[in-house]
Amino acid sequence: MDRKKFLKVLSSIPASGFATKLSDLKQITNSLPGTGLMPVLFLGHGSPMNALDDNPFVKGWKTATRFLSRPKAILCISAHWETDGTFVTAMKQPRTIHDFGGFPQNLFDVQYPAPGSPELAAEIVAMITKTSVGLDDTWGLDHGCWSLLKQCYPAADIPVIQLSLDYSRPAQYHYELAKELSSLRKKGVLIIGSGNLVHNLRLIAWEHIEEPEYGFDWALEADAKMKKLILAGDHQQLIDYKMLGKAFDLAIPTPEHYLPLLYVLALKEEQEQVTIFNDKAVMGSLTMTSLKIA
Ligand code: ZN
Repeated sequence: MDRKKFLKVLSSIPASGFATKLSDLKQITNSLPGTGLMPVLFLGHGSPMNALDDNPFVKGWKTATRFLSRPKAILCISAHWETDGTFVTAMKQPRTIHDFGGFPQNLFDVQYPAPGSPELAAEIVAMITKTSVGLDDTWGLDHGCWSLLKQCYPAADIPVIQLSLDYSRPAQYHYELAKELSSLRKKGVLIIGSGNLVHNLRLIAWEHIEEPEYGFDWALEADAKMKKLILAGDHQQLIDYKMLGKAFDLAIPTPEHYLPLLYVLALKEEQEQVTIFNDKAVMGSLTMTSLKIA
């Protein structure tokens, strides 16, 4: 349509037509879930090799982050940083930590030189009332954090900080602490919980290792129940996971890979939707199930 025709069409629309359109538009923006809020992600990280691989799980992570507005900063709660007390990384330039063994040299060669954000770290210390949060200058970015970000934000030009998991505290504590982070979502901070819903390395199914998506019955059962509770918004049962029976005992032998999920769920606002993706088992005793809340 050339400009003249366009103007003609435009002039033929009655004033009330514009009004309708504008009000429609307003309604649409009002009804967009999570408007003004940065989404929250729980990403199942699995093997550190996912930092380098191109597979359906990595594609799932990339899809979850591709259309987000560019975060001002990223806050990662990783299964791989457990401390006595709660800490945030506060250095200007966090190091890339290769906290694993037995992997090829090219994985040890990976660097993720994103800047830190001492300002954001200080803001978190000030905003949390539940405990006194310490500023850390020794950790950096562990593979629970950089294996995901290397794939989703390869330029490493967005500031990243990590919040540690206090191993001395029960699940309820983590859930309540996370709620105090909610205002960060309005400030363009992308919060990512990194772990695995089902994670039992002692029970890896070596005899099925060639089957890429093999899961033990108990792993599939626990993962299915978790998804059901997540979608039903029943966070309390997920916090009280120790009461959920044998499959959960096997799925969560230690809590560090599961707790990042509780941080993410705690940040869900009432009107928001949960989208589940990558919900597949690997190696028998892990699931890659991930979620996006927006
Ligand atoms: Zn891990």
